[in-house]
Amino acid sequence: MQDMFENLPGLLFSYSLKVEKREFKFLKTAGALDVIPGVSADQFETNPELFFSKIHSGDQSRFWDVIVQEALAGNDWGCTFQVSDGEDSIWMDCSANVKQIDSQGCSGHGIITPMRNVHLSLKKSEEQLQKLNQLNQLTSDIAATLVQSVHGEVFASIENTLRRLGEYSNTDRVYIFEYDKSRDVINNTFEWCASGISAEMENLQGLPFGMIPDWKENFTQNKPVYIPNVTLLGPDKQQLRDVLEPQEIKSLLATPMYSGETFIGFIGFDSVRGLRDWSEGEIQLIQLAGNIIAGTIYRTRFENELIAARKAAEEANLSKSEFLANMSHEIRTPMNAILGFSEIMLNTAETERDKNYLGTITSAGRTLLALINDILDLSKVESGKVKLQPVPTDLSMLFEELTGLFDTTAGEKGLELHTEIDRKLPQVVLIDAVRLRQVLYNLIGNAIKFTYEGSVKIFVRYVDKDEHNPVNRLEISVSDTGVGIAQEHQHDIFESFFQIETGYTRKEGGTGLGLTITRKVVELMGGSISLMSNPGRGSTFTITFKDIETSALKLRRDTTYDWSKVKITFNPAKVLIVDDVLMNRKLVSAFLKTFDFDLHEAVNGKEAVKKAKEIIPDIILMDLRMPEMSGYDATRVLSNLGATSHIPIVAFTASAMSHEDELIKQLFDGYLRKPVSRYELLTMLANHLEHEIEESIEKE
Ligand code: ADP
Repeated sequence: MQDMFENLPGLLFSYSLKVEKREFKFLKTAGALDVIPGVSADQFETNPELFFSKIHSGDQSRFWDVIVQEALAGNDWGCTFQVSDGEDSIWMDCSANVKQIDSQGCSGHGIITPMRNVHLSLKKSEEQLQKLNQLNQLTSDIAATLVQSVHGEVFASIENTLRRLGEYSNTDRVYIFEYDKSRDVINNTFEWCASGISAEMENLQGLPFGMIPDWKENFTQNKPVYIPNVTLLGPDKQQLRDVLEPQEIKSLLATPMYSGETFIGFIGFDSVRGLRDWSEGEIQLIQLAGNIIAGTIYRTRFENELIAARKAAEEANLSKSEFLANMSHEIRTPMNAILGFSEIMLNTAETERDKNYLGTITSAGRTLLALINDILDLSKVESGKVKLQPVPTDLSMLFEELTGLFDTTAGEKGLELHTEIDRKLPQVVLIDAVRLRQVLYNLIGNAIKFTYEGSVKIFVRYVDKDEHNPVNRLEISVSDTGVGIAQEHQHDIFESFFQIETGYTRKEGGTGLGLTITRKVVELMGGSISLMSNPGRGSTFTITFKDIETSALKLRRDTTYDWSKVKITFNPAKVLIVDDVLMNRKLVSAFLKTFDFDLHEAVNGKEAVKKAKEIIPDIILMDLRMPEMSGYDATRVLSNLGATSHIPIVAFTASAMSHEDELIKQLFDGYLRKPVSRYELLTMLANHLEHEIEESIEKE
């Protein structure tokens, strides 16, 4: 019997429990089990603390709680606990009865046995649970990182994600293959390798998706591919072995990646240095992580496409504007000659027939020029190149000037042209006068064009802000008694190149761009345009600006001349004409021939600098784009030379790129755009050279 006790694969014991002292004592022990490895059970009898100090700390209090609760109630009691065995833990099972119970505590007998099998499987599932938790945590981390990563950093974040997944799973290679639907191929686009493992990405581009049919089938059904041991693949999987074995892959997991319903590709894990077991839970989480990455890839590729499309559109738009600007430059240069010489010949032609021909050439040329200017203008507004320049403007003066321009045409058609300005209109408003003039010029021009009897009236109304109107309002209406516009066309006439198909339009000509530009410019200025019209009775176009800045200041009136009525005599002066095109030089010379000018010419910037130093001209007309040295460079040189820095230099160019405007303004004393008219040229010279005006009919 004794022998039996001593060889029992467990530990029998009798115990006593003293509640107040919190003391659990082994009174007697027997059996072959070392409950605590390396500690013989006899020692528990002399050292009651020893047992508790050796079991896992979490189990100590559980053990105590069970005894106190169950044993003191007189019940049989039991408890499991762990003790350490080197690196490992062993689970023990203890069950006992209660023999005696009193106010101080109780006593009884029990047995402790090891729980080896249970312990192992428990331990394993606990470990697995821990790993799953870890992967779960990692997956949500990955989701947060990828969602937050800004556009330029996404691909780096994905690479970092692969590294984290690789380190977590203790695999050797983690990679992503993206599916290219248009070619039905897969490309290895991301890869992470553990140290010492060779990269394969370069070799894995443009592979047919159907190369391994099982995989394609699995992935299209949103199922993973898991090969725990490549060496165990059956002979029917030879094709797959041929792919995996050269890469020395021992275990492999690949899960499909979907963004919504779209198959993006798959994420794979290779184990090269050993086998890797993937649990069901892990595979599910990996699939989730793969889908998160898929969403990110999908979003980023989509954003990339958008960015590329926007860039292409911007480039196309820019090249369109540049093309138009260049084209207009190319056309303006010969137009300069055609219009200029026609004008000169028109003045000297003797026969009526020649005058007629020349008249037609001039007017056709001007129409062509107007069309070019309109197209250019529209492209500038559309490409956002027009920058508004609000300046203090006297509107009464502006209207006077505008009606002055149309007086003759209106008079010839027997139309009354009349402006009615609200008395309340402030003297000065802050507005881009150049653009406002352009808009009104279009509207008044159209009104006169499409009116054959009656009148064209301009009404200017101003409503100041008060308790009813939080902001002021400026309304300008151009009202005619002309042919009118049918309701169905009232919207279309603001579209590019739209002209109403009537005899009037054919008769009057035009480009069909005027109102398009007008509306765009008005909107750019922060205003709006509206139309009211009755066919046969007339039209009223109204533009409205709100909240404009006003001032009571008076502006000085600029002196302008009506060159048809004024005779100007310049004091003798030296004029240097710089242009690489012979025709342009000749044209300016022809315009200036009748004056007492000493005319000099230069064919490029270099020659201009040389001549200017020699003759010290009183004014220089400088073309901008020339071979050898541009007009800009020549002007810079001359402005920095003591002897020539005082000479006014006027830019003379066919170029129309708006980004040059600012530079021209800074560098030059004036700006003439080709084709230049005699009037513009004389006005510019009068600004810089001493002159006298005879029969001075100066316009107010
Ligand atoms: P364009 O006058 O150069 O043809 P617009 O864009 O200025 O181009 O005008 C477009 C069309 O709108 C004109 O061709 C004409 O048919 C119509 N239109 C514009 N203004 C008036 C007006 N005041 N009265 C009648 N029709 C007009």
